[in-house]
Amino acid sequence: MAFVVAIDGPAGCGKGTVTRILARKMNLVNIDTGSMYRCVTLECLNRGISYEDEEDIKEVLENINIRIEHSDGMQKIILNENDVSKEIRTPEIDNIVAKFAALKIVRDKITPMQQKMGNSQDIIMEGRDIGTVVFPNADVKIFLDCSVEERARRRHKQNLQKGINESYEEVLASIKERHRLETEREIAPFIKADDAILIDSTNMTIEEVVETIETIIVSKRNVSKD
Ligand code: C5P
Repeated sequence: MAFVVAIDGPAGCGKGTVTRILARKMNLVNIDTGSMYRCVTLECLNRGISYEDEEDIKEVLENINIRIEHSDGMQKIILNENDVSKEIRTPEIDNIVAKFAALKIVRDKITPMQQKMGNSQDIIMEGRDIGTVVFPNADVKIFLDCSVEERARRRHKQNLQKGINESYEEVLASIKERHRLETEREIAPFIKADDAILIDSTNMTIEEVVETIETIIVSKRNVSKD
């Protein structure tokens, strides 16, 4: 296995930004695992398939092709040869993705795809179950937390910049519901791995979070290379 950094954290905790910066600085391949669950959700919605139609979802999963391409430190999410990087980040997908991500058939397909990505390259992978399920032996495990109000505030601001018009209250309600579904699900629930390092970013700047994690990665990378 190559060098693996696992970053788990809830929606809106800043892990996407932090991971992107760290990947560039530390020469690691950045993998946003949430985008893969978003792709499954988008493909199902486009075909009018609900999270309750397991037979139809199974068929979608048999033929699905998801690729993460990298250029200039940015990730492009390719679903069945189409660039869906923007389409997968709408409030419609935000509100339903956790239902699809809770399904065993979906996780049985996506988890091995993620594990394969860490076999041959040094990676920084962000998600909800990276340190617990996908890479329980990761070299570095970070659990990035943040208060729900601050997460909603950040996500609301990001949405406005993207031209998405949702009120703060709507974003807060959506984030709370998603968190409930993720932490209460039976398979791969979103929980901190025992050996993950907890960082609460509520009152930290992005730069401070990056610096903290960078120091941890440097110390572990040196050790594992000796
Ligand atoms: O990180 P992001 O918010 O884009 O993730 C979208 C959804 O994918 C999450 O709400 C969660 O339900 C699911 N997810 C997951 N396991 C991961 C990453 C994301 O279940 N490792």
